[in-house]
Amino acid sequence: MDAKQWGVYVHIPFCRQKCFYCDFPSFAGRERYWEDYTGALCREIAVRGSYYRQQWGKPATIYLGGGTPSILPEKFMKQLLSELRQIFLPDGKAEEFTVECNPGTVDEPYLAMLRNRGVNRLSFGVQSFDDTLLKRIGRIHNGQQAVDAVAMARRVGFANLSLDLMYGLPGQTLEQLKESVEQALSLKPEHISIYGLQLEEGTAFYRMQELGKLNLPTDDVTEAMYDYMTEYLPSQGYERYEISNFARPGFESRHNMSYWQDVPYLGVGAAAHSYLDGQRWAAFAELDRYMDAIKENRIPVEPEEAATTAIAIEEFCFLALRTAKGISREKFLQKFGREMDVWYGTVLRDLSARKLLVDDGRYVRLTRQGMKYGNLVFEKFLLDAQDF
Ligand code: SF4
Repeated sequence: MDAKQWGVYVHIPFCRQKCFYCDFPSFAGRERYWEDYTGALCREIAVRGSYYRQQWGKPATIYLGGGTPSILPEKFMKQLLSELRQIFLPDGKAEEFTVECNPGTVDEPYLAMLRNRGVNRLSFGVQSFDDTLLKRIGRIHNGQQAVDAVAMARRVGFANLSLDLMYGLPGQTLEQLKESVEQALSLKPEHISIYGLQLEEGTAFYRMQELGKLNLPTDDVTEAMYDYMTEYLPSQGYERYEISNFARPGFESRHNMSYWQDVPYLGVGAAAHSYLDGQRWAAFAELDRYMDAIKENRIPVEPEEAATTAIAIEEFCFLALRTAKGISREKFLQKFGREMDVWYGTVLRDLSARKLLVDDGRYVRLTRQGMKYGNLVFEKFLLDAQDF
């Protein structure tokens, strides 16, 4: 059997409370679902997972995201990890096996349990070390808990940790951000992700903004925050390998890279996305609908609009452009049968002249400016259906 590069994503859609900015598919107050949902995940892994495992061999990466995976009590997490290992990892090991953790939901025995069951990378949603800010955005943890969580993870043997930070938060100053970044660096994580606050419809912050009650930093301050992070982190040894992601050499997230590099992945669980055989699928987001489908041996997914060639090309470019490496011209040619200049010749010349892109003949990548004004570049990569 030919081993194929692919990954597995497992979605845990539970949180202790909903953060005020969050529009991810996650629910608070659904403790009554934990047991049955874990059972449904295990069943889906056993059926769909086994199918792809037989086709493609062992996945290179497994990623438990959410929601808050670490909210699952030990009993259910053990059950899930044992199913994952049994189906996907006959030798007990994955190249990269990540669990997202909320610093407010873990203790040392829990992290040791993850480590002993093959998890080799943790991603902590820290966002800030400033307690007032954390409260203001609806997080359940405080700065000290984040420091303690990292120390515990180190003690039980994790050598690959990622911290998420946010900027552009209500009332946040550049000084506060700098303090949080310094504190993050003092913990020596291998990987840091930074996200600017986005106001998404349906969130508490969106409603507050509509009522004029959200005190956001000005555009100038937000831009200064962005400039500071994107200049300072590389100077401290964290290479920017994707628009929002920085890592020490060799610690780039393999799983996330696969999203941007057109590698297939199987999504397991409610609302999980899959990219298989060139098709993207999204599982039912409603928990009951998802669990009923699993119970009745139905695939819990609905096909997204069949990707036209135009959409497939756009997606390929958008995803690859996010990375420091950029779009591989050769990969583009292999996948779509024609040079990318057929569709993008003028765009490439124009964006290169404006110093937003570099085209070295093998790769087309964003410059630093291009990353900053990514949306401006991405919109140029939209295709006209009439071109096909
Ligand atoms: S912990 Fe994460 S997934 Fe849960 S509500 Fe907060 S941001 Fe959303």
